[in-house]
Amino acid sequence: MSPPQSTRWLFGDQLGPHFLDSPDQRVVVIESRAVFRRRVFHRAKAHLILSAMRHRAAELGEQCTYLKTDTYREGLSHVDGPLSVCQPTSWVADHFVRRLAGAGELEVLPARGFATSREDFTAWADGRGRRRLLMEDFYRDARRRLGLLMDGGDPVGGRWNFDEDNRDPPPRQQKTLGLPDPYRPVEDDIDAEVRADLDRWAADGDVRFAGEDSPRWFAATRRETLATLGDFLAHRLAGFGPHEDAMLDGDPWMAHSMLSAPMNLGLVDPVEVVQRAEQCFREGDAPLASVEGFCRQVVGWRDYVWNLYWYLGEDYRDGNALQANAPLPDWLGELDDTAPQAACLTGVLGDLRRHGWVHHIPRLMVLGNWFLTHGIRPLEVSTWFQRCFVDGYDWVMIPNVVGMSQHADGGVMATKPYASGGAYIDRMSDYCGGCRYDPKVRVGDQACPFTAGYWRFLHDHADRLAGNHRMGRAVAGLSRLRDLDALLAQERDRGTSAP
Ligand SMILES: Cc1cc2nc3c(=O)[nH]c(=O)nc-3n(C[C@H](O)[C@H](O)[C@H](O)COP(=O)(O)OP(=O)(O)OC[C@H]3O[C@@H](n4cnc5c(N)ncnc54)[C@H](O)[C@@H]3O)c2cc1C
Ligand code: SF4
Repeated sequence: MSPPQSTRWLFGDQLGPHFLDSPDQRVVVIESRAVFRRRVFHRAKAHLILSAMRHRAAELGEQCTYLKTDTYREGLSHVDGPLSVCQPTSWVADHFVRRLAGAGELEVLPARGFATSREDFTAWADGRGRRRLLMEDFYRDARRRLGLLMDGGDPVGGRWNFDEDNRDPPPRQQKTLGLPDPYRPVEDDIDAEVRADLDRWAADGDVRFAGEDSPRWFAATRRETLATLGDFLAHRLAGFGPHEDAMLDGDPWMAHSMLSAPMNLGLVDPVEVVQRAEQCFREGDAPLASVEGFCRQVVGWRDYVWNLYWYLGEDYRDGNALQANAPLPDWLGELDDTAPQAACLTGVLGDLRRHGWVHHIPRLMVLGNWFLTHGIRPLEVSTWFQRCFVDGYDWVMIPNVVGMSQHADGGVMATKPYASGGAYIDRMSDYCGGCRYDPKVRVGDQACPFTAGYWRFLHDHADRLAGNHRMGRAVAGLSRLRDLDALLAQERDRGTSAP
């Protein structure tokens, strides 16, 4: 007789069918209140996660034991028989389950929900010898391994990379890209119950939230996730590439997929997502540059970030190469979009307050850029991103924030800091036209906080950045600024108050 199948403990980000060994496997899901007490989460994020967990339990019916307890440990005390769990997605949770495994209380299986296993990544990274880790090389390796967008041993179309076709500014004179509104889920009784619970918890003073909890924008079930994917493939994928980096004040979604939240909840496997995108290209429904650009994000960046989180070790999060020591200001902590007058910050913070999401470029070139050039402590920045974004989890925030956005790892993830002045935001968005500041002005009442902040940043880190081959020329430009002293005094006075 074969041993009884274990009960699978599903964390809240392991909700798709691929986290079970068979469709009828017994499941336990534990809703821990303590998780919500630890931080001030965006309310839309708390809602999305609870809604997804409770929907999954409802789908599984009697197959699932759903426990509402204070802690995971308390929940596990109610589970009998053999128990297994797929590797969780944070160092803290991983240590926790491995301690339980050491005591014989459960079995830990390899992670699921990513396109490249930790073993494959380690073999790839270790095999590079002294060559630096490069996402582009990792991505090509993944394409070959997955047979994605390949013609035999060569990339489809003869090129691996269409980035240079994918960097268009937004169309001028348009308030939106003109695409149909994205698919939006319809809430049900489970959402109503979640909202009532969150209201009660907040009223009890037990937990505190930031941001709005409007009807959900993001998928919480597999059915809704497939609807989001289908809608993206049909209406947005073709436009994804050219406007990937562009921002419009009146169009928060642009041609983005809105799949990060459901993908990070484990509702769909990334390989399924890119195979569907490839099919669109093969059937002539979307151009190669857009399909390649999208696949690069999903099995390139997403898996690269996931694997770096583990490969670079637990201490990576503590990096602070630029010695950034200013605390996170309250106006950002509270998502107060009325505090700044800078149109880009008001617009992006407002979108974040309403949706718990903005796309990649506002994260990197508006929010991240402001944090970087104003010297906010990187770990506080990571925690802020993690609690305020519906798709934020430790594994994805630490490399993206500490590494890519704040350059706190000293250049492991990105060869140069993503710092830029207002000229970049002006070129890639329509924010500056309606702003009280001027992106070309660096000193005085109209001085753009990004332009002035950029020069102050270059000045403060000149010794370090002068040797960087991608920054050296910008640092040299400091010597041409006749108003540098006035700029530095102005920025000292402005500090981290809302600009
Ligand atoms: C400072 C900063 C913080 C970020 N924090 C998160 C986060 O907490 N969670 C998160 O999922 N993404 C994060 N990203 C990456 C990226 O911004 C989001 O994945 C993307 O904006 C989500 O929207 P979308 O699903 O419409 O993405 P699309 O633009 O449609 O891209 C498709 C998919 O690619 C993946 N992807 C692309 N870039 C990355 C990346 N750098 N890291 C991981 N996945 C990527 C996502 O799964 C995304 O769904 C962050 C980026 C930056 C610069
Ligand atoms: S002028 Fe400066 S602050 Fe104003 S929107 Fe442009 S970049 Fe932002």
